[in-house]
Amino acid sequence: MQGPVVDLVLLMLLVLFFGLQQGRRPQIYFRFWFAGWILVFFSYVVWAVQDVQEGLMRVQNAVCFDFLLMGVLTFIVSLVANENGLRRIILAGLAIGGSVMILVNVEDFVALPRLLLVVGVLVCQGIAFYSAYTLLPHRWRRRRSIVLTICVVYGAGLLAYVLTTPATNLDSAAVVEALLCAAVLYAGPPSRRNMSGWAGTVGFAAWAGFDLLSMHAGNPASLDKALYEFWNFPKYFVGFSMILKVFEDTADDKARMAETFRDLYEDFRLLYNTHPHPMWIRDDGKGWLLTANEAALKEYGYSLDEFQSMRMAELEMPADMEAEEFESMLDEPTEGVRVRHRHKDGRVVWVSVVEREIIYLGRKARLVIARNVTERLKLDRELSFRAQHDALTGLPNRQLLEERLDQCLQSCRVEDRRAAVLTVDVDHFKMINDTYGHLVGDECLKEVAARLKSKIRKVDTIARTGGEEFTAIVSGLSKASDAEKVAASLMRVFEAPVELAFGALGVTVSIGVAVYPDDATDAITLRRLSDEAMYRAKRAGRNRAAYASDKTPVLDFKKPEAS
Ligand code: GH3
Ligand code: MG
Ligand code: MG
Repeated sequence: MQGPVVDLVLLMLLVLFFGLQQGRRPQIYFRFWFAGWILVFFSYVVWAVQDVQEGLMRVQNAVCFDFLLMGVLTFIVSLVANENGLRRIILAGLAIGGSVMILVNVEDFVALPRLLLVVGVLVCQGIAFYSAYTLLPHRWRRRRSIVLTICVVYGAGLLAYVLTTPATNLDSAAVVEALLCAAVLYAGPPSRRNMSGWAGTVGFAAWAGFDLLSMHAGNPASLDKALYEFWNFPKYFVGFSMILKVFEDTADDKARMAETFRDLYEDFRLLYNTHPHPMWIRDDGKGWLLTANEAALKEYGYSLDEFQSMRMAELEMPADMEAEEFESMLDEPTEGVRVRHRHKDGRVVWVSVVEREIIYLGRKARLVIARNVTERLKLDRELSFRAQHDALTGLPNRQLLEERLDQCLQSCRVEDRRAAVLTVDVDHFKMINDTYGHLVGDECLKEVAARLKSKIRKVDTIARTGGEEFTAIVSGLSKASDAEKVAASLMRVFEAPVELAFGALGVTVSIGVAVYPDDATDAITLRRLSDEAMYRAKRAGRNRAAYASDKTPVLDFKKPEAS
């Protein structure tokens, strides 16, 4: 009993092994091999049952044959599972197996007339030939033609067998044919990597040989003994070949992965080295620079050795007032951080730095991309300056004035302080233009702007809000009358004539003043009141200041008007 138990255990182990493989591996043939070994296992279980009653022996033989044939056919169709649809190969397997099983099983129980047997064999061989012809890919030229030849030649032999003998071993003969086909098909294309295929061929061929020899009645006793002793050996060789295939597939997967990894690494290296922006990898702890791309070395002026002996902090400039002022004009960066880096030659540039955490040579590191954005920032700053300033005088324009006025009123509200809005309009400016031309007019406007600016503190604002009209915001006044002092100081800057290319020109201005919160508390009303006061000053004879609050006396500077 020891022999059958060992065989059962070994077959069970094969079933378990392929059960595990088919769950883990994507290759479809592992699923077929799992099913095939289950069928072979059942065939063996049925065969191993002993002391069967006389009447049941035939049933036992038939069932044993059916399982074995289906098992071998499953091993065969596993090879074409990738080449054909699953449904198609299962149907073909069932058609071949079904036709053979019907013929052989019926023959086991009923002695069929010879003519019927001949027709049965022809039908079975026909189905097998047709299936092999349609399912085996044409590129398996040699194996395909050998299998088709087996169907024809072996089929002819079977016909002779049923015609000339009682054909008592038709079942074994059918299995042998399937095993021979399997032996041919497992050979696969000749290559070093296909050891498993050749082992499979040897296993199936030996399996067929053992069955063929056992069919022969007059063997010497020693051969029969050897066949009995090593009966299952070919099966296990087939099992061994399939296990070998698992290792070959694993080695293939590893080789493929290594190749993919190498390709990826090469792609990354190329991308990294030829990237137009400076890139480097820095240590995650103290920021040592581990490696840098060509653009980084070129841009920063260091050699790779020098770079690798530096820390990230050595490239960075500490934040200072100048940097803050520069940044205050710009929008927040959309990605990364904006810092200043120093090149080897001392040049300081603005860079946009983006960092990503990576693993470099097995340790935590950071990939840094540092784009030089100095020129772009300068441009942004210039555009933003132009959008908010007047081109002729360089003073803030109306839009910036409105923003500053809103900010000023907000802080005045919080700090409970006063602020004044002063509208300054040059008197009879049209006359200057008409008399001396627009170019002189422009020069004059620039000088007027410069003089007004000289009297306005940095924290306050003087803007050009019209052709020859300026608006000042003066904050931090402790009383309403402080605004008069500001207006007086602005009037006073025009006491001296304006020096122009052709000579001196007397210029006067009219000023309208409105005070927060005494005259109004909102920006629009303050500006309107200041404007109206300025027109009142004009009407009152120009060269003077007028106030939104009528209680405030009008200053009158007795000064000759521009001629
Ligand atoms: P008033 O005392 O009533 O303010 O008289 P005015 O001549 O100054 O006033 P008006 O509004 O009639 O004329 C303003 C002139 O300013 C008209 C326009 O040609 C001139 N002007 C506006 N912008 C510019 C500029 O950028 N350059 C020069 N040269 N002239 C300008
Ligand atoms: Mg004017
Ligand atoms: Mg005007």
